[in-house]
Amino acid sequence: MLRFEVLILGNSSATPMFERHPTSQVVNYNEQLFLIDCGEGTQMQLSKYGIKSNRIDHIFISHLHGDHYLGLVGLVSSMHLVGRKADLHIYGPAALQEILELHFKYSETVIRYNIIFHPTNPDQEEILFESRMLTVRSFPLIHRIACTGFRFDEGKRAASLRADKVEALKIPKVYFAALKKGIDYVDPQGNVFAASELTLPAPASRSYAFCSDTVRHPIYLSSIEGADLLYHESTFLHEMLDRAKETFHTTSLEAAEIAKETHVKKLLLGHYSARYRTLQPLLEEAQAIFPNTELSVEGKWFLV
Ligand SMILES: [Zn+2]
Repeated sequence: MLRFEVLILGNSSATPMFERHPTSQVVNYNEQLFLIDCGEGTQMQLSKYGIKSNRIDHIFISHLHGDHYLGLVGLVSSMHLVGRKADLHIYGPAALQEILELHFKYSETVIRYNIIFHPTNPDQEEILFESRMLTVRSFPLIHRIACTGFRFDEGKRAASLRADKVEALKIPKVYFAALKKGIDYVDPQGNVFAASELTLPAPASRSYAFCSDTVRHPIYLSSIEGADLLYHESTFLHEMLDRAKETFHTTSLEAAEIAKETHVKKLLLGHYSARYRTLQPLLEEAQAIFPNTELSVEGKWFLV
């Protein structure tokens, strides 16, 4: 099975506290690495957890609050210093391009590789990246400033061969790819063997949805529907609901209700307020509503 996992580099909101770093994650799909958000210290976190930054060709930034992008100038500069040649695609709010250019203008730096900037649209769902096996979309979230979530969808997976039957019929290897696509095998005598009899059904495609930062709102529910893994911010306990609404954030209880409503398989909490030294109460609050909830933990990989 192709690898599809998320590594948490940071899970703190606003101020880094209790050794928790601001938001950043690596998505590994079949050894292709994508970075989501890039809070301060992200490049140190990458090196701490053994990720070579030059393996990352696509960076997605949700919004322009500092705890989601202040590590980007540093990371982009370091890629330049280590002699990166490959193009780097950055997807984020349009003004991020201006911020980066202003920095490089006044630091008189000419980046030696191409940065290809893709402005995101905070008003509607859009496809940002597409390969044969993976599609990445942005979708609107509701925050104090323009903000988007991201969803990674795996493409249609191939059926696998039933080795026992294929061997028994001595089917030449050259037909294997066609069989996996559902094309029947015809032997030299003209006998037809149905592909459905010679293969096992393709496993379901997997998906990962990322929501940070947002107030609870119906606008994004269809965008996260049915995800195998949902990362949803849970900045506060529900006793802080007023504060959550005022700052356009979500409580643990709300994140769990959203997970339940959208039929996701698993919920990952994150973006914890610096007021919480221990996170167990946030977890327990969510699990009471949506049992398959875990805390995002720095340095830990989560399977999609
Ligand atoms: Zn924010």
